[in-house]
Amino acid sequence: MKNRIVRAVLLAVVLPSLSVWIASCHGGEGQKSARDVERNRMVDQYIIPRGIEDPAVIAAMRQVPRHRFVPGAYSLFAYVDGPLPIGHGQTISQPSLVAEMTAQLQLRKTDKVLEVGTGSGYQAAILAELAGEVFTVEIVEPLARRAEQTLADLGYRNVKVRVGDGYEGWPEEAPFDAIIVTAAPDHVPQPLLDQLAIGGRLILPVGTYSQLLELHRRTETGYERKILMSVRFVPLVRQAETQ
Ligand code: SAH
Repeated sequence: MKNRIVRAVLLAVVLPSLSVWIASCHGGEGQKSARDVERNRMVDQYIIPRGIEDPAVIAAMRQVPRHRFVPGAYSLFAYVDGPLPIGHGQTISQPSLVAEMTAQLQLRKTDKVLEVGTGSGYQAAILAELAGEVFTVEIVEPLARRAEQTLADLGYRNVKVRVGDGYEGWPEEAPFDAIIVTAAPDHVPQPLLDQLAIGGRLILPVGTYSQLLELHRRTETGYERKILMSVRFVPLVRQAETQ
């Protein structure tokens, strides 16, 4: 009797999870589902407890495979809630901060969005899940090219990547319903304020060593500003400094 119970437990619980584990070690289909499980766990443990309530943002965080945006050596840590190196001295932001900043933009499916600081392309993919069109500017060319490739491999057709100084925005595509800056300038770039549509939202960290996350909204008559929290981003560099 006891033996039969042990055998039943083995068959029902241990063997199936062992096969998922073996499949994930061999990079088969099991790997995809193992990463899906990890990603959902990340959302349940770090994103929802942070107070993110927008179901569309939560769904996007469950959907976008962050492990595809981080270098292979760090892939194991893709679903831990921390920043990770992506090369060229840059980092992919912490997932809960990506979710928080995205939620603050209150995106609609028809919105046209600008991102400054493409980095790995992960934040751009999250935006692409929620908005109509995403335009993203990166100053480090190899990062821009890699992000463009990753986004194409994953089938994101509504994202355009450009190499350049995002301080200047993307004037040819303005106005934008939302602008997100993921590197910190020491003041709010005037071109970005100018390129907001009426009702448009701009979220960005501002400051040098310690930064504050600011949310700006363009109104019929001017701009409203809200300070959200203190954050740490890499600095926004200007074209002249990189030459
Ligand atoms: N959003 C990214 C992480 C950004 S890290 C992601 O999801 O992975 C900040 C990025 O901003 C870096 O890649 C850095 O090279 C870029 N950056 C810094 N200054 C910039 C500027 N003036 N214009 C465009 N990109 C800039």
